[in-house]
Amino acid sequence: MFFKLLLILFIFSSTLFASENVTIGILAFRSKAETIKEWQSTADYLHQKEPNYNFVIVPLDYPEINEAVQNNKLDFVITNSGHYVYLEKKYHISRIATMERYKKGQWHDRFGGVVFTRAERLDINTFEDLKGKKIAAVDGDSLGGYATQMYELFRNGIDKKNLNMYVTGMPHKKVVQEVIEGRADVGFVRTDVLEDLSQNGSLDLKQLKILHPQKSETFPYFLSTALYPPYDKPEIFTIGDIWNKYKIAILFSTSMTFLFLFLFSWMYRKNSFEKAYAKSILDASPNPTVVTNGEFLISANKAMLSYLGYATLEKFRSEHNCICDLFEKGDTNEYLQPKMDDVFWIEYILSNSQKEHKAKITINGETTIFRIDASFVGNKKEFRAIAILTNISIMLTQSTTDTLTHIANRLHFDVLFEHAVHISQRDKSPLSVVFFDIDHFKKVNDIYGHLAGDEVLKRVANIAKNSLRKSDVIARWGGEEFIILLPDTPVKSAVEVAENLRLSIAHENFDVIGHLTCSFGVSYLYEDETEDTLLNRVDELLYNAKENGRNRVVVG
Ligand code: GH3
Ligand code: MG
Ligand code: MG
Repeated sequence: MFFKLLLILFIFSSTLFASENVTIGILAFRSKAETIKEWQSTADYLHQKEPNYNFVIVPLDYPEINEAVQNNKLDFVITNSGHYVYLEKKYHISRIATMERYKKGQWHDRFGGVVFTRAERLDINTFEDLKGKKIAAVDGDSLGGYATQMYELFRNGIDKKNLNMYVTGMPHKKVVQEVIEGRADVGFVRTDVLEDLSQNGSLDLKQLKILHPQKSETFPYFLSTALYPPYDKPEIFTIGDIWNKYKIAILFSTSMTFLFLFLFSWMYRKNSFEKAYAKSILDASPNPTVVTNGEFLISANKAMLSYLGYATLEKFRSEHNCICDLFEKGDTNEYLQPKMDDVFWIEYILSNSQKEHKAKITINGETTIFRIDASFVGNKKEFRAIAILTNISIMLTQSTTDTLTHIANRLHFDVLFEHAVHISQRDKSPLSVVFFDIDHFKKVNDIYGHLAGDEVLKRVANIAKNSLRKSDVIARWGGEEFIILLPDTPVKSAVEVAENLRLSIAHENFDVIGHLTCSFGVSYLYEDETEDTLLNRVDELLYNAKENGRNRVVVG
């Protein structure tokens, strides 16, 4: 605001000294010729005093003068007080002089408004009586002819809504005619208008009644409102004036600046502290931990970097966008992949918080299974997810493996079996199952002892495991019973597998124990069959093998 004002003053003064012509815009109510005639003597006087400049009178109506001021076409403006206030507010012009009128033997620099009706209107005596009456005024922008009266009415509790106003346009004489000729009940005019008309014989003052008359010792005209002193001194700015006028704005803007700087530095310091604080929490955790925005890795703690074998986060980031680059597929769909159900892994974890999420990562040939827990902070715009990895490899191995034979236990088999059935049904691929049991194993224990029996179980499990493909699964069903899953294998091939295994075991030399045999039941998954019925069938087939003399494969 302050700079804007200075700028306007500067533009004014530069045009003043640089151009030969000095334009004076005058608000003209009468014809332009008349206005020029009235003001030409002023222009001539100014030229006489300042011979280097030509003063040009430019008569303009309201819209023209507003436009000329807006476009900086005028050096000076002579207008009425009300319009000046408007121009000052809107275009920041500043005043330098006010006009005084010499009338009735004295100078007048104040004026106000008059509210009047016809003398015979007995029904109109106070402002209250104006409600609902037709009121004529010269112009909605006029100070003495409209604004002073409206303000006076407002002060006296008369709502603008209750007034039936219309405007006549300049000059004020039109308003008087409207009232005298009965088209309006009431008129608003500037002070001294009525006296002027009376003096030139066009109005008999007895015809009118002044409403809300105000008495003033020094003001000799009819008056219905307060008197408005015009601006009585030129607007000369000193630093002090600027300070006085814009004290609050200046104080406000400087204090806002300081407040902002303070907040900024505080937040900056707080922010860097918070960052260091967050990092120290992350680094204190022995679990590999990452912070991601859903797509990119933002941070990783020390445990994560040391597990991955990177010295710095930058080094890791230069090679990977996401920790999920390292996620491997497992035998089943139990491990997280970079995208799950079409969403990023981290979103998947967050929206499936009731599930346990696992990821399989191999670094330098060593595979680790992690459980991943995630928490989330943010909103739609900004999003941070913290993923904490817990190495569950040992737990997982313990819970899925048979401790004696180190092949899958029954619990794990159930999971793998369910998955295999699902894949077989989805891909319409054959799934075969081989169920076998060591013959007369009780005797082994009885004769050679339990430990020898355990050794036999390990040896059998090993032979079976080594005879299978990587995608096949062998599990200890319980006791001396084993089960083999052969995905994507027709039953004919499964029989071959069983037969070979039978022979391998039969030919094996179990040290002191000598030779052993096994009985086999072999079958495959029927269409729309459940795991349970298939297991029942192979159990039945194995029983048949036992019944039919053992050391044989029975298929069904
Ligand atoms: P069949 O030919 O009919 O299968 O006769 P079997 O003796 O093998 O069958 P049975 O079910 O009568 O006996 C199984 C034996 O396996 C009983 C149990 O002592 C033994 N056994 C089960 N689990 C273990 C184990 O973990 N270690 C040892 N050493 N023996 C076990
Ligand atoms: Mg047995
Ligand atoms: Mg048995």
